Amino acid sequence: MVSESEADVAEAAAEPWPDALPWQRNLRLSFAAGRDRAHHAWLVAGPRGLGKRTLALHLARDLLCESPTADALACGNCDGCRYVAAGTHPDLRLIEPWRIEPDGTRVAVQEIGIDAIRDLTGFTQITSHRRGVRVAIVAPAERLTVEAANALLKTLEEPPAGTILVLVSHLPGRLLATVASRCLRIPAPRPSPAEAIAWLAGQGIATPDLALAYAGGAPLAALRIAADGQSGERAHWFDALARPERLEAIAMGARIDAADKPDRKARLELVLDALAAWTEDLARVAGGGAPRRLPGRADALGALAPRVAGVDLCRYHRSIVHQRAHVARPLNPRLVAESLVDAYRELFAPQPRPSGAAGSRGTGAGGG
Ligand SMILES: [Zn+2]
Repeated sequence: MVSESEADVAEAAAEPWPDALPWQRNLRLSFAAGRDRAHHAWLVAGPRGLGKRTLALHLARDLLCESPTADALACGNCDGCRYVAAGTHPDLRLIEPWRIEPDGTRVAVQEIGIDAIRDLTGFTQITSHRRGVRVAIVAPAERLTVEAANALLKTLEEPPAGTILVLVSHLPGRLLATVASRCLRIPAPRPSPAEAIAWLAGQGIATPDLALAYAGGAPLAALRIAADGQSGERAHWFDALARPERLEAIAMGARIDAADKPDRKARLELVLDALAAWTEDLARVAGGGAPRRLPGRADALGALAPRVAGVDLCRYHRSIVHQRAHVARPLNPRLVAESLVDAYRELFAPQPRPSGAAGSRGTGAGGG
């Protein structure tokens, strides 16, 4: 007999179910132990690339499992677990910035709008289908429109019995304060470097230590970077950044347009990430430290560090980080890249000597 739910499972075009992450197990155990007195709303917060969405999905499956293990985690084999993994569990709602087209394909959108939250409100008001618990995940929660966040607030203020909301955010400061304050905050667990490197090696990453360093210690970000096939492009940028006097903005900008049009935004993100890591380490080395993000580039960074103006470097780095956070709709990725390269060159331009000044100011900006 094929049930309705099994037919749904066959139709589901959901993403593959993510494996549990070893560094999240202890937190899942402590939540599973307290499941009967669980708070009604959780906010999983922390930097990108630690696996917050994966944690939310596994917390949901632990709650919805119909035959939990002795330590109260999901068994992975019951109907509840299978439906969660297939994205078809009737008591689980996953609210993400996607729009489903009439032909069933998913298109990424910028915001989570009011309609998704109205749908969620309806979901929380019906009785659960299977086990008496309903779970809704909103990821990433900072994408909620103000209108949607206010609608969600009503559900948070009058939580329906048996419903658990899990908000996921790497920018919790952007959430409506009234929404954030009603959630129990769960800081996303961070693995030790050794644990993260072992996990990455298990995923088949050849140089897990370098990938993890470049990703700032975030293992899922490291995995994405190591597997995106762009290491040659990154190396080209780092080689070019090491010789600012030879940098040509137009040539570097052309590298963005060398990608197919739909991929140019991603190429700009790659450049922004590379510039952010490079300038972060350049500042570190200029301050007498060792590079953390690009340990393999220590020599080039060491050669550049005496030539860079520290204050300007910090300002430039901040502007890169800001642009990375707002890269959603760049008007023209190539022009953005060209101006980034021009501004980077300026960090090493010889300082004009004030006219009439006696002697050099000795900034070292033009030296070397
Ligand atoms: Zn189960």
